[in-house]
Amino acid sequence: MGLKYKRVLLKISGEALGTEDNIYDSQKIHDIAKQIVKLQEEGLQIAIVVGGGNIWRGNQADTISMNPISADYMGMLATVMNALALEAVLKNEGSTHVVVTSKVQVPEVASPYLFKKAKALLEKGAIVILAGGTGQPKFTTDTAATIRAIELEADVLLMAKNGVDGIYDKDPKQNKDAVRFEQISLRDLQQKNLKVMDLTASSLAMEDNVDIVVFDINDANNIYKAAHGQARATIVTGGEK
Ligand code: UDP
Repeated sequence: MGLKYKRVLLKISGEALGTEDNIYDSQKIHDIAKQIVKLQEEGLQIAIVVGGGNIWRGNQADTISMNPISADYMGMLATVMNALALEAVLKNEGSTHVVVTSKVQVPEVASPYLFKKAKALLEKGAIVILAGGTGQPKFTTDTAATIRAIELEADVLLMAKNGVDGIYDKDPKQNKDAVRFEQISLRDLQQKNLKVMDLTASSLAMEDNVDIVVFDINDANNIYKAAHGQARATIVTGGEK
């Protein structure tokens, strides 16, 4: 089973790293890291955008009556925590070349994100973790993942979902007869009023023809399989393709 891509942008949501009770689940995070290290050993260039939803999301601002912009920065800082956790576990699983970068400046623990530097690191075989989202409030890490896939010229955006194995014509949790798409264009998704990511992210993906593979991170070995074009997934083609 050969690699399908040379360079990927892997988006991992924060929730995929933990459980309802714990922000991190040792088995889950080690399992994710193991697959990524194996892919690195096979020569895949891997950039990772990690979310923060297992710790904090900006839309929780109301729960403590806080300013929503500060709450978004808290969300971005949560992604830095996740990046550091992932870095530690990747090293634990045997990777000798992992670099954490961030759009929110925390130089003690993460290099500032610079796209040319990140590209050079990918070319040298480093796993490059991209924390801090876009560095701007009002955005999501899905948007960050899309922008980074474009600027780092990834062949594909591997969108690891937590408990959903692709895109369906209706909510599969509510409808037993929901049908999963094997392949669909972003334009068709928009026309059918279905979503793979937020509107900002999908508009950017459409503009730059970003291909996206949507798969369930909880299925055994699915990141590894997705990188080899073998995962049960929906392939979302960018633009008109
Ligand atoms: N966030 C932000 N700007 C960004 C990315 C993230 O303000 O560019 C904040 C936002 O509050 C978001 C939180 O960080 O709710 C965590 O990110 P996200 O919800 O995308 O994480 P995920 O759902 O993927 O774990």
